[in-house]
Amino acid sequence: MDTRISECETVKTYGENVFSLKTMKNYLSDSAYQSLLLTVRLGMTLDPAIADEVAEAMKIWAVSKGATHFTHWFQPLTGATAEKHDSFICPDGEDGVVMRFSGSELIKGEPDASSFPSGGLRATFEARGYTAWDPTSPAFIKESDNGATLCIPTAFYSYTGVALDKKTPLLRSIDVLSKQLSRLGDLFGIKTKDRRGYPTLGAEQEYFLIDKGFYELRLDLIQTGRTLFGKAPAKHQQMEDHYFGAIKPRVINFMEDLDKELWRLGIPAKTRHNEVSPAQFEIAPVFEELNLAVDHNMMMMETIKTVANAHGFVALLHEKPFAGVNGSGKHNNWSICGPDGKNWLSPGDDPHENAKFLTLICALIKAVDTHAELLRGAVASAGNDHRLGANEAPPAIISIFLGEQLQDLIDQIEKGKAQTSKKAETLQLGVTSLPTLPKDTTDRNRTSPFAFTGNKFEFRAVGSNQSCAGPNVILNTIVAESIDCICTEVETAMDKGKKLNIALEEVLQKIVKKHKRVLFNGDNYTESWHKEAARRGLPNLKTTPDALAPMKTDKALKLFAKYGVFTKEELLSRYEIYTEQYEKILEIEAEVSLTIAKTMITPVALEYQSSIADTISIVKGFSQTGTKELLKGVSSEIENMLKAIKELEKAVQGKSESKKIVGMKNLRKAVDTLETLIPADMWPLPSYTEMLFMM
Ligand code: ADP
Ligand code: MG
Repeated sequence: MDTRISECETVKTYGENVFSLKTMKNYLSDSAYQSLLLTVRLGMTLDPAIADEVAEAMKIWAVSKGATHFTHWFQPLTGATAEKHDSFICPDGEDGVVMRFSGSELIKGEPDASSFPSGGLRATFEARGYTAWDPTSPAFIKESDNGATLCIPTAFYSYTGVALDKKTPLLRSIDVLSKQLSRLGDLFGIKTKDRRGYPTLGAEQEYFLIDKGFYELRLDLIQTGRTLFGKAPAKHQQMEDHYFGAIKPRVINFMEDLDKELWRLGIPAKTRHNEVSPAQFEIAPVFEELNLAVDHNMMMMETIKTVANAHGFVALLHEKPFAGVNGSGKHNNWSICGPDGKNWLSPGDDPHENAKFLTLICALIKAVDTHAELLRGAVASAGNDHRLGANEAPPAIISIFLGEQLQDLIDQIEKGKAQTSKKAETLQLGVTSLPTLPKDTTDRNRTSPFAFTGNKFEFRAVGSNQSCAGPNVILNTIVAESIDCICTEVETAMDKGKKLNIALEEVLQKIVKKHKRVLFNGDNYTESWHKEAARRGLPNLKTTPDALAPMKTDKALKLFAKYGVFTKEELLSRYEIYTEQYEKILEIEAEVSLTIAKTMITPVALEYQSSIADTISIVKGFSQTGTKELLKGVSSEIENMLKAIKELEKAVQGKSESKKIVGMKNLRKAVDTLETLIPADMWPLPSYTEMLFMM
């Protein structure tokens, strides 16, 4: 098959597997379509009267695409997606069947699904879980070799109405933010009636590809998604020759297929390139409304895996599949589309727009400084600890990078209009037009966890394997809270007769004074920043348990309860679930480490040891100094390994996570040293060189 597709075909096949608004128009009556449009565009409650018609239309469309089944597609707290299929078939009473799909089946599902983590929220007697259609994210078709399934994005909640998934709080947080955006719009005289502002997201996704043949020989990759052993090769990423390098033919073939699949699903894949580490790549879509973008990222991760498989690769989405080289993240590009359809994080054309822009920047500064620990907690996982704790990805300290020019504006706000600035003019909100801020400059600070990049903020601490939902729930909520506070203060001052500009200047000045400690434009990897951050009192939560703890605080419970994003029990149950997930992952990793060391490495090491010993006893009458030294070296490393095995076995019995981590590290050290001593053809695991370079 010719894998090149002409522009014409791309346009024709784009979104062909999505029941998009465009497609719906052809299948629905005008009144049903208009009604659904209000729900999708303005977030208005779905009119149940149209459900049957939409369901019928969806079914006709899906069946025409070869679908025999439908599923409510949801995002439980495992972090993956879930589906339970039902066929459309319905006996017709005459020994045949008809294909049926009703409005009630579309709107509500009852997958039960009692085995998903609920953190104690669902006692077995009320174990029922329900799914509810999210009409703002279009249904899509998932194809397999033998058929197709209609997937309907849904929220997942319990019998008692408690959120059991990642989508429900996300939708709530988007609503909360939308409301505050309207309020801000009102202050600035922007028309907000019958319009809606919302956050946008473009998630850059990093991943590794390795040959399936190697993968299948690595128990650690199969079971844990990362290599628990393996010596980094002499040459890996130091030469920086992989980053943006020419893409190997086998990889580009994969990428071309991947893009085509994503486009058919209506996922606007845009950029693709080689990343820093050998065998590491990145794909980024055009940004979309946040809820849709999160669903699309989940679908993208799944599609990366299935297309890789078809190309004889395995895609590794783990945050740190290989020690010693770059890990993988997910840059969460977040911005705001106002009710006027404009990007509100973009400095505008007139002073009024700029005042609104600076208000939002200050709202973000306040939000991130006030709740840095919640943002950190939202990206906490066993996998991501390998990045955030180490000196490669953004550090665990959350700070904001604004860039020189925006920083200068913020400094001026801090001084306030009353002060004379060293600069020629002082900034007066609502009076001054801002200089054009550089967009996407090449010298952007790559080390910052939270960077302003021209017209959006890029939260870079999200792990490659994580759903974007969690971090964005936090981001939306804390920014909404900030805007809420700002609006309240400004409105109160205006009620007392102050002008908007004056009121705003005072409020923003206070914010900058109080929260400027979170701003940092330097190199986040340096030791000096870590010291400086400590001096400024910024939290540095290095491990998952430390980072999750703030979820349980009164401060967090109050915030989420106030805005109705999480109830107390929802938040606490999430804390339980994420903590348990962390513990389970460490337990599994420790067990797999032991299995590999005991059943794969030890036998080979002993065999080699005995072959050297044999040589020494057979080859007599020659100098054996070197050979004996070799035997000594191998023997002592075997002893180190056996000792480390014993220690890790003890740690596995215990409750301490950090002991497991240290135990695995020590065992790895011995095994990785043995890898440098034992003949390559005896070594039972594919090497880093093979996995990272041979494709
Ligand atoms: P880089 O790697 O230089 O950060 P990329 O082009 O790989 O840049 O990714 C930038 C991401 O930011 C893209 O997914 C893009 O769609 C997204 N983005 C651009 N504008 C916005 C916006 N207004 N809101 C959200 N995301 C945006
Ligand atoms: Mg980026």
